[in-house]
Amino acid sequence: MIRTFIPVYEPSISEKEVEYVTSAVKSGWVSSTGEFVSKFEQEFAKFVGTRYAVSVANGTVALHLALLACGIGPGDEVIVPDLTFIATANAVAYCGAKPVFADVEYDTWCIDPADVERKVTKKTKAIIPVHLYGHPANMEAITEIANRYGLYVIEDCAEAHGAEYKGRKVGSTGHIGVFSFYGNKIITTGEGGMLTTNDERLYERAKFLKDHAMSKEKRYYHPEIGYNYRMTNLQAALGVAQLERIEELISKKLKVFEHYKNLLQDVEGIRLNPRSPWAKSVYWMVSIVLEEDFGISRDGLMAKLKDKGIDTRPFFYPLSSMPMYGGAAVNPVARVLSQNGLNLPSGPNLTEEEIYFIAETLKKILNHSI
Ligand SMILES: *Cc1c(COP(=O)(O)O)cnc(C)c1O
Repeated sequence: MIRTFIPVYEPSISEKEVEYVTSAVKSGWVSSTGEFVSKFEQEFAKFVGTRYAVSVANGTVALHLALLACGIGPGDEVIVPDLTFIATANAVAYCGAKPVFADVEYDTWCIDPADVERKVTKKTKAIIPVHLYGHPANMEAITEIANRYGLYVIEDCAEAHGAEYKGRKVGSTGHIGVFSFYGNKIITTGEGGMLTTNDERLYERAKFLKDHAMSKEKRYYHPEIGYNYRMTNLQAALGVAQLERIEELISKKLKVFEHYKNLLQDVEGIRLNPRSPWAKSVYWMVSIVLEEDFGISRDGLMAKLKDKGIDTRPFFYPLSSMPMYGGAAVNPVARVLSQNGLNLPSGPNLTEEEIYFIAETLKKILNHSI
């Protein structure tokens, strides 16, 4: 069956999720104390392959907390990719620091290490590679630059749970990994986030700051200004159930991409998600970039797909084009991808029939037969 409206994404919720959340509600542990919170953290650390994980209220505050734990503050610069979701740069601004925008690579859609190196200054303190749309950034080159200049690496893994760089899960290759569990991410807790790290000091610092910076020894004594960035037990219950299903969800995502690829790879003038030889992508968003002039703009194409009941999203605008970050796109690859890219429906529940319908509709629009 083909639905009359196919959304870009929707979560996959099974009986397990209903059962765990119900048990959390019934237990009375509805706030941030409760067995699901610590279980989710332990299991998530195990999944990513780090010693520690810290749950938080969403991915944006996970980024903020990661930067705070690294001591980023006023006067500092943090290099972020120009093509990403706004939260990556805003978290830097929350610290009073300055986001500096590096271009992305045409071959990964992720931050370009060569441009990162060009943008390092004496004020640079950290790099935030983003594993965009599920494809890992080139971590070896980034780590090499970070080591050479003494910089922190905070991986923004909000779109890439389970993706791998040379066999290592994202979130385990930098100083801190940051995840989001928003409703359209690979797994969801409604709203939610997680930090992963192998560094005990960063772990302790993140745990302390996310809970009002309360002294461990003296209750209600706060030696500095902290935050309430905690995740609730209800969210964690949903997260534990989703995490138990993550391999199933990722394999569904890979199948969705394979179906699209079989139908679209021979279409001249469009490019599907890249995949580097060293990468395991989880294809968060199946995406196409228009490389040729089809006589229809990207936005025109999206409107025609919408008429047929197919929901899509444009790529992110370059962050350097936002009014508070300069107001003009400064990086050529980010600009071209941003103008010509769109995300197709990518949820794990898409049927083969729906993917066929979407691909055929897309082809017809591109060769002007509808
Ligand atoms: C979703 C997302 C975030 C923010 O996560 P929220 O949980 O929505 O706050 C950060 N970075 C990237 C790249 C994202 O896609």
